[in-house]
Amino acid sequence: MKHHLIILGLVLAGCTQLWAGGKKAVVIIVDGIPKDAIERLHVPAIFDIARTGSFGKSYVGGETGTYNETPTISAVGYNTMLTGTWANKHNVFGNSNLSPNYHYWSLFRIAKEQKQPLTTAIFSSWTDNRTVLLGEGKPETGNLKIDYVYDGYDLDSRRFPKKEKDMHVFDYDEEVSANAEKCIRENGPDFSWVYLWYTDDASHMYGDGAYFDEYILKAGEQIGRIWQAVQYRQKQFGEEWMILVTTDHGRTFDGHGHGRQSERERTTWIATNRKLNTYFKEGKAGMVDINPTLCDFLGMEVPTAVRWEQDGISLLGKTEICNLRLAAYDQDIILRWNAVKKSAPVSIFAAPANEYKTTGKENWIHLADVKAGQQEYRCNRNTIGKGPFYKFVVVSGHESLNRWFSK
Ligand SMILES: [Zn+2]
Repeated sequence: MKHHLIILGLVLAGCTQLWAGGKKAVVIIVDGIPKDAIERLHVPAIFDIARTGSFGKSYVGGETGTYNETPTISAVGYNTMLTGTWANKHNVFGNSNLSPNYHYWSLFRIAKEQKQPLTTAIFSSWTDNRTVLLGEGKPETGNLKIDYVYDGYDLDSRRFPKKEKDMHVFDYDEEVSANAEKCIRENGPDFSWVYLWYTDDASHMYGDGAYFDEYILKAGEQIGRIWQAVQYRQKQFGEEWMILVTTDHGRTFDGHGHGRQSERERTTWIATNRKLNTYFKEGKAGMVDINPTLCDFLGMEVPTAVRWEQDGISLLGKTEICNLRLAAYDQDIILRWNAVKKSAPVSIFAAPANEYKTTGKENWIHLADVKAGQQEYRCNRNTIGKGPFYKFVVVSGHESLNRWFSK
């Protein structure tokens, strides 16, 4: 009997293992498509993905006029998605001369630091995404290794010679999406990132109009290929997939530009085959929420030091607390947040400096444990340190909210 129980236990453990290994995710960034254009064209693949899942508003650009305001520029947006932080932390403020701060771990690094590392893949029309933003092979990223790599086309002018209307960029996207489809179908990597570029070029050249529309729909076809591969994996292998499609920024009123803080430039969208939570449905989601969402879905453990620096929260399951903000009153700093689950225990920590930026570690001081429903905590800044800079983190279960304060 005992032996049977042991065997049954082993079988069950094996099943859990299989089930855990059966969750996979692919995130696609398609460059610079405003939410209104996606909706007006009702891009078929996007709304087919969202049919049993979710489609809705998100934003980029950080919080306008604050310490984390972030340019609505491409590489800035990708790194925000990868790290779950705004540019004040990840340190990418443009598309060139990049110097990312690798202490803010990318999804790829998180995936590789798991007890059982996940298999990863990148399919990208822009090679810097791997070599610079992810920092593959660099000591600062723990010599990050990506298992399946399909990029380099933008550096291969023999195979992809320059064409009129930058059509060589469209050719990269065709190659990227074909490779993503094939690799996902055949190998089913645990986590993949696909980047498609041409829509941004089309709109920089012609602005809003028929040409841009045509290439948004073509990008939709490229996304559709990848969605086909995901559906094939689900059906054929019983794997549980999350496909999430988003854009890195909106555009100016006429479609030509982006980079600043207008409503249309800041407004983005997320489409996924998974049902997202109320926080998302209320239109509060930001680019920073994608990293915690994918970590949540894939069941990845994020080291506390890394997680407490992330600026987003998961868009899956119930939110406990959100919207942390700070106010000053003489020498006091007042923390306020919104409690969704009022009974949840909350712990509050502070740091008198930003050590994490240079060392990847923080000397957090434990201030208090309170109930989420209190929604406010007041402390005297002199009890934390000399200042003038302070940072705070409010932690509830797997969620953490953080803010910087400086005079
Ligand atoms: Zn872009």
